[in-house]
Order: sequence, then C-alpha cells, then structure tokens
Amino acid sequence: MLSFSLFLFLFGLIIGSFLGVIIDRSVHGDSFIYGRSKCPKCRKTIRWYDNIPLISFFLLRGRCRNCGKQISWSYPVIEGMTGALFVWWYVIGAAVFKLSTQPFTILQPAFWLLVGIGFLVVFFADFLYGIIPNGAVYGLTALGIAYRLALTGMSIMRPIDLLFSLLAAMAMTVFFLFLWWITKKRGLGLGDVKFVLPLGLIVGWPAILVAVFLADILGAVTGLLLIAGGKKKFGQTIPFGPFLVLGGVLALLFSDHIVQWYVSLLT
Ligand SMILES: [Zn+2]
Repeated sequence: MLSFSLFLFLFGLIIGSFLGVIIDRSVHGDSFIYGRSKCPKCRKTIRWYDNIPLISFFLLRGRCRNCGKQISWSYPVIEGMTGALFVWWYVIGAAVFKLSTQPFTILQPAFWLLVGIGFLVVFFADFLYGIIPNGAVYGLTALGIAYRLALTGMSIMRPIDLLFSLLAAMAMTVFFLFLWWITKKRGLGLGDVKFVLPLGLIVGWPAILVAVFLADILGAVTGLLLIAGGKKKFGQTIPFGPFLVLGGVLALLFSDHIVQWYVSLLT
C-alpha cells in the first residue's frame, strides 16, 4: 500500500503539472495541447529536465534558468496538492466509497477523483487569476448529472431525490444570480454563479446549504484578515470560487455533523 501510495503521489504530481498548464493556458486563451511550456517572462522553451514536477522548482530555487526571473510558487503547490489528492483518494477515500454493486465499484471512485481534479482547477484558476474556466464548470456539471442519472438508473438513488437535487442546484444558482445582480456584479463573478450549479449537483441537498454557508463565513473571515493585515481595502473583492470549493469539500466530508450540531443549537 505504501509503494502504491508513492506511485499515486508521483502520478498525481504529473497530473498536477498538467493542470497548472491547463489553468494557465485556459486563462490566457492559448491552446492546451500544442506548444511546449515557455517561461512567461523570457519566452524561452523550458527544457524537460527543468520541467520535472516539484523537483525542478526546488533545484532551480524557484527561478527561470535562462532569465533568472521568479517562477510562480503556484506550480509546485498545484502539483503537490494534486499528488496529495491522489493519495488521499486511495488511502482515505477507499474507506468512504461504499457502493459495491457493479459498475459503481469503478464509477464511484472515478467520479470522486475527477470531481477532486475539477475542484482543484476551479480553486487555483480563481485564486490565481480571478477566473473560473467555463470548461471546468461544464465538465463538472456533466459529471454531476451523469453520476446522479447512473445512481438513479441503478436504483441506488430514488427518482424523487434526483429531481430534488436538480431543483436544489438550480434554485441555488438562481439565488446566486440574484445576488450577483443586486450587488451590481461587484461582490460575485458570473463564474461563481455558474459554478454553484455543478457544486449543488455534486454536493447534493441539503449539504449545498452547508457548503454555501461555510463559503460565506470563510470568505468573510479571510476578507477581514486581509483588511486587518493591510493587504486589502474595504470594497476590494477577493475571488469567491476558492471558498465555494472549500465549503463544498467540507460539506461533503462533514455536512451531517454540521447539520446535527446546528439543530442541537436550535433545540
Ligand atoms: Zn525566463
């Protein structure tokens, strides 16, 4: 298990390196596949031995070999987080994925790994560039609908629950669209609004309420800390996508406990 975890970590690093490029290029409107990686400063093509995930960044001390300009720390962070996601998925996820009927022994882990990758893309694209790529939104939406249809088709999920999760996701999206509109498009980006749809589909009802609630709190606390630290001024916005992702992940992991705790406060 340890050697397989190590293998998955290394494999995750490679996927993460690819994600860094995808995020970069989707934000700048470049082709995903064509063209070798170039230094964004001096435009020199990066040699393969300077492009090894995680390792090259540290060997080069975070600087381009040609021009000496700093390389963004975001690359090794995305790589490391993707590696960690793969290990988490294998070590912890295996205990959580309980659907044992075919084809869900394969579909369930595959679905959650792809969701994790999609969430990483949304998190870092919005954090680094303030943009949630449409591709990630469409991909996650298709994934969420396909998975819930498959669950319903195999009678693991009731049709009424499918309908309810679709309606809840749509209602939450409309609510965010309304917020976007009344805040005069300053507080939220349209990308955040669009991302709420797949988030709702994936997280489900009522966990999406927990996700949005936690995203709000985390976003507000972070905003206040940034203002207190002199990094931001009042009225300046921070990307909300990363908080939606964090809220979503926390809701997926802990929403039952959080709802119980909240109900215990009320009664
Ligand atoms: Zn350079």
